Amino acid sequence: MISISYYNALSLPNVSCYFQLEYLNSRSDQPVAVGDKVLFLMLKSDKKEGTIAAQDVYPIATRGVVESIEGEWALIRTTSRVNLDSIQADGKLFQVELRTRPEINDLDSEEQQERFQKMRSDMLDTLEGSKWLMGARNYIMRWQNMNELITFTSSMLQISNEEKYAILAEDSVAKRAEMMEKAFYETLALYQVNNEAQTAQKQSNQQQYREQALRRQISFMQQELDKLHPENVTDVQKFEQKIQESGMNDEARAEAEKVLNRMKQEGQDGHEYGMLYDYLDFVTSLVWKKEPPAKIDLKAALAVLDEDHFGLKKTKERILQQIAVMALNKKQSGSILLFVGAPGTGKTSIGQSIAKALGRKYVRVSLGGVRDEAEIRGHRRTYIGAMPGRIMEGIRRSGASNPVVVLDEVDKLVRDYGGDPASALLEVLDPEQNATFTDHYMNVPYDLSDVLFVCTANTTDTIPAPLLNRMEVISFPGYSALEKFQIAKKHLLPKAMQKAGITEENLTVSDEALRAIISDYTMEAGVRGLKNRLDTLCRAAAVKLVSGEERAVAVEPEDLRGLLELAPIRHDHVLEAKNPGIVTGLAWTQAGGEILFIESLLTKGSGKTIITGQLGDVMKESVQIAVSLVKSMFPDKAELFENNDLHVHVPAGAVPKDGPSAGITLTTALASLVTKTPVNPEVAMTGEVSLRGVVMPIGGLPEKLMAAQRAGVKTVFIPEENVDDLMDVAEEVKQALKIIPVHYVTDVLEQVGIMRPAAAAA
Ligand code: ADP
Repeated sequence: MISISYYNALSLPNVSCYFQLEYLNSRSDQPVAVGDKVLFLMLKSDKKEGTIAAQDVYPIATRGVVESIEGEWALIRTTSRVNLDSIQADGKLFQVELRTRPEINDLDSEEQQERFQKMRSDMLDTLEGSKWLMGARNYIMRWQNMNELITFTSSMLQISNEEKYAILAEDSVAKRAEMMEKAFYETLALYQVNNEAQTAQKQSNQQQYREQALRRQISFMQQELDKLHPENVTDVQKFEQKIQESGMNDEARAEAEKVLNRMKQEGQDGHEYGMLYDYLDFVTSLVWKKEPPAKIDLKAALAVLDEDHFGLKKTKERILQQIAVMALNKKQSGSILLFVGAPGTGKTSIGQSIAKALGRKYVRVSLGGVRDEAEIRGHRRTYIGAMPGRIMEGIRRSGASNPVVVLDEVDKLVRDYGGDPASALLEVLDPEQNATFTDHYMNVPYDLSDVLFVCTANTTDTIPAPLLNRMEVISFPGYSALEKFQIAKKHLLPKAMQKAGITEENLTVSDEALRAIISDYTMEAGVRGLKNRLDTLCRAAAVKLVSGEERAVAVEPEDLRGLLELAPIRHDHVLEAKNPGIVTGLAWTQAGGEILFIESLLTKGSGKTIITGQLGDVMKESVQIAVSLVKSMFPDKAELFENNDLHVHVPAGAVPKDGPSAGITLTTALASLVTKTPVNPEVAMTGEVSLRGVVMPIGGLPEKLMAAQRAGVKTVFIPEENVDDLMDVAEEVKQALKIIPVHYVTDVLEQVGIMRPAAAAA
């Protein structure tokens, strides 16, 4: 007896099948021979054969007999189903008692045959075209009945072992046939569904392969075409290449590729295409690669600074220090310099010279009037018309990753509903943060740590403290007339002539004419107006030359009025007449220094104080201090203030904060008024005053002294504590003025003749 076990197979009677001899022999004590009996056991579950126990097999099996042996193969024919009355299993040895299980033959064999034929042809139809069928068709055609069909396909039937066993255990042939048909057709249907899904998948795969192949082909052909017509390279390809070559950091590259993909999908007619194009154009035109620090030659740098700018000795020294420190640190940026001074004093242009001296690119970013944070940090791209901020736009314009960026007018940032641009600027300037500065538009960080920032401002008053603290203030006090003359002669005139295409043979401007332009046609701390006048002069000369009116133009002072088409400026010159109660003061404004006249008057009244001019509360306090001081210094005159109204007028030219620095001027004016002692208008003064009569220091001394000299003042009283500031004052100005430091306001009153020295001593 040979036992053969199948894992999931169902063996039915009346089936002829071939088995490999080797397989049969491995399950038997002796080699198999023709006529040997075979038993097909059915396993309850997938189990390793070697360890099969009695309870692993179903109690109904199928019996067969070896009909023939052909070479390696044995042909076995199953005969009947058997009940296994008792089973003892021990490894591969089985002891069984068998009883043939009778069948109920309730299906006529003709009908059975018809149903079998139909099943087989349906199977062949379903499998039509499948690879499997190609080798199996002959084999299938050899099947003779439904039992064979089910036995051979049973391992493929989509039913459980239990259901298979139910088929085997069914005694009614008709019922068994129904069960077999049901299981068979279900499996067939399942196959069909799978097959369709697979075909669909295959088709889509094929389509993808095809598409890829076509794309590759197209791209190849496009490359060939591009070689012939480089002008036709598409935007996408252009950006693909630019992104590759840009040296972007990983984050930026990922973002750029994302945008590029969207651009591809969008196509040229898509409504976002323009926006996507602008973004890629922007980020790919930035320089992402780091540039190594250039070798620095201090001498050459100074030569460059000297070549472009006359004077500014201290500024140039400070710039050289900065350059030296950068060289030692092997860094491309250092402390942030803030140049403060009146317009036209050379702040911006020296920034340009720094770039030239360092051999780096230069860019100027104007911040005047910026009130929206987004102008510094960029708009998010979700906004229509979103743009990068001014800083990144400037960096792009510079075409370098380490330019010198001059941030102009940082004092003119406005804080309002658009956020706080100054705090955004702080992020840009802060060396701790700016290596990963993220412009909202770009949405990826850009390293600003190699950028050298230089800021300019007219005043530090309006710069928020946190921002101001980051910067090192260098003041540009403006130029004296003598300096202006040199600047005009050496720099401005040659440039103006060159711009107008005029040579030295065609135009000469006498030194007197230059001085006259400076003194009579400009009134400024800087040289912007002077530059404009010289430009006008050159243009006027050009007209004369081209029209043939003159072959060479020589400009003298008397020609200026006609050539410049401008009336000479009436300076706030010192007053001629001497009146008690009027004193010359000095003020600081954003445009440089100015002289002003403080006027006071007593009128019949009840002790009121009237202040006109626009100086507000600060000035009111200064007037009150002056009144109290004068009352205490001249007790016998005190009643004047009770029986009269005091009217003080201060011209509105000075900045509101400047009120206190008029302290000694106000006190002197009132003292002059009550003592009826006129003060020489060629004497000017500046200084804050305390209730004790002590003169306290003020700001903007160089500007004020320069204004005094311009206006024809001869003597200036300054606070003793400001004496150090005289270092910053041009020699020429110091020589032209008698500068008298004072400690007490009485020192002034004595020297202008209001008080006798003896009285002061008392
Ligand atoms: P700011 O920025 O202070 O308003 P600019 O730098 O724009 O002034 O200077 C105005 C013009 O004056 C520029 O053409 C500049 O070259 C010129 N200038 C200013 N100072 C000097 C100087 N010291 N030497 C030569 N040219 C100067």
